[in-house]
Parts: sequence; structure tokens; C-alpha cells
Amino acid sequence: MATELHETIFMAKQERHKNLFLNYKNLNIFPVELLKDEGLQFLERLYMKRNSLTTLPDNLAQKLPNLIELYLHSNNIVIIPEAIGNLARLQSLDLSNNALQMLCPEIGRLRSLRHLRLSNNQLKCLPPEIGDLQDLETLDLAMNQLMSLPDRLHRCLSLQNLTVDHNLLSHVPRQVCWLHRLNQLSMAANRLTFLPLDLGRSRELQFVFVDNNVDLKGLPSYLYNKVIGCSGCGLSSQALEGGSMGELLTEALVGLPAEVKVIGSHTDNVVPLEELAMRTMHRIYHHRPAGLNLLPPIILPKSLLDLLRFPLGHCHRCSQAMFTIIYPKLFPLRDTALAGVHRRTTVSFVAYCCSSHCLRTFDLQG
Ligand SMILES: [Zn+2]
Repeated sequence: MATELHETIFMAKQERHKNLFLNYKNLNIFPVELLKDEGLQFLERLYMKRNSLTTLPDNLAQKLPNLIELYLHSNNIVIIPEAIGNLARLQSLDLSNNALQMLCPEIGRLRSLRHLRLSNNQLKCLPPEIGDLQDLETLDLAMNQLMSLPDRLHRCLSLQNLTVDHNLLSHVPRQVCWLHRLNQLSMAANRLTFLPLDLGRSRELQFVFVDNNVDLKGLPSYLYNKVIGCSGCGLSSQALEGGSMGELLTEALVGLPAEVKVIGSHTDNVVPLEELAMRTMHRIYHHRPAGLNLLPPIILPKSLLDLLRFPLGHCHRCSQAMFTIIYPKLFPLRDTALAGVHRRTTVSFVAYCCSSHCLRTFDLQG
């Protein structure tokens, strides 16, 4: 095997190969032949998946200065050296399925990087320097232990595909909505309880997957008409039984929206104050357009006044106007015309409700 490896590399060096395939070679150290003398100055793509590497050499960029793609999927890499930042031409880096616990800030110096794959490692956080990757289009962070997204991620303005499935995210920073080229956002199997209300405002964002976030019940109304995967969300609302405090409050606070009535029952969800305010204003406006002017010193910005005239949707159950948040009633996508759009069978489509109360009483036949 050693001789074969030696010959492969010797040949690549002699014949100035641009691609070198060293997958499945049982390597536990980086082959010295790649780093000897002047290295492989012409090499652009290096494939080394399914070996047993634990780190990378410090002089990688000196010896392989023209590397564009580096595939290290399925090794045992625990740490990558700061010198990784010297691979100035690198566009694609695959470190999926390794043992990384942290990533050095120098990753942010890979200014040509377009695809970064880090799924199935043990990352608990990421350096904010990720935000320096202005050309980054794909970022795969699935199956790590991230509790939050990297600070400054919103500066990656070329980002089109962000995958953070199977982590420990409890929230998504609102700045994610500033990623105007983002087309697919996948955050299945996290601990999300809510999403930023302007998520989906960008036309580019077409696919949002939030499956298996059991405490997530509402979706931002901007996700209307997008492909949404959210089966397995809001399961805990099924368990809305016997909350005696909730029932007491429900009886005491007649006249308030259903959500507010059941505050105190940890299994239910509460409509955001912003949404309640908008609905109240809308009701006043609807019944008496001049009514808003009778409420000095409240002066609404023009954008809010416009929003009051044109709600983002109406409840499929009770027809109440909705402004910032909707409650989706899910049906498997395979039963709808959108079935062919995406191969993930857990994708669902949706009737929208104004509250968890309407959601519970929604009935397709009814
Ligand atoms: Zn309703």
C-alpha cells in the first residue's frame, strides 16, 4: 500500500496532475510525499475521504498553494491548524463526519471559500470570523451541538443554503433575515420555540425546514406560499389537558383571545403582543377608519398604517386578519400539487390559523 501511495503521488507530481484521489487509503498521517521539496504546485483538488487523519500539516498552503477543493469527509480530525487560513484559493472545504470540537478563527481568512461542510462533528460554537466569508454559498452545520448560530453570520451575503439540522438551537437571530440570497434554510430537530417574524420576507428564501422542533407552534406569516417542512412541530399542544391553572384563567378572563386566556399552561402558546396590537388596531380601523385619529397621542408610522389596510393573510377558520404570525395546520405534501418539488417526504402544506384555538378547531371538511 505504501509503495502504491508513493507511486500515485510521484506520478501526480511528475505529470502535474490537478486532481489527486487518496480516498480509502488507511492514512493516519498526511502523506509526507505531498509535502516534500516544492510540494505539488499544480494540484487543485485533493480527495482524502474515509481515512484516519487526526489533523492537517502546518505547511499545507506552502506545498499545495493552488488547492481549490479539499475533501476530508470521514476522518478523525480533531483540530485544524491556524495555517488553514493561508489556502488563499480554496473554494470548497469538506470536513464532515470528523471529531472537530472547535474551529479556529483563521477559517475567516479563506476569502475564496464558497462551500463549507462541517456536519457531524462536535462543534459547540463557531468563531464570528465565519462572517468574513463573503463568497460563502453553502454552510452545512448539521449534527453538531450548536446552541446558537455564529455571530456575524448575517455578513455572509452570498449564502444560499444554510443547514443546521440536529443541533441545540433555541432561537434564530433576526439578522438571518438579512441574508437576501438565502434560498434554503434547514433547522430541523432543534429546540426552536419561535422564529423571527420577518423570516421569509426575502423572495429568495423558498424552502424552510423546521421539522421536529416540538415547542415551535407558530410560523411567521411571511412563510405563506413557501415550501415549509414543519411536521413534528408543536406536538406539545396535543398534551393540552387538565391544566387547572389554565382552565381557571380561561374562565376568569372572558373576552381575551384564546392564547391569553391560557397563560399559565406551559403547554400552550401566546400570540405576540405585537400581533395582538395590530389586530386591535385593525379592528378599530375596519369599523371606523377615522378612529385611529381619535387616539392622540398615538401616531402610527405610515408603514404600520399601510399594514393595517392590507393584512398579510386571514385565518382559514375564523377569517380574522393576521399580520405577523400564523399557526399552520399541516397536511403531508405528498397529498398536494407541490409533492414533486422536494424529495423530503416530511414536507407539509398548510392551512393558516390566527390562533392555537382556531388551529385546534380547524377541520378541512367543516
Ligand atoms: Zn381564527
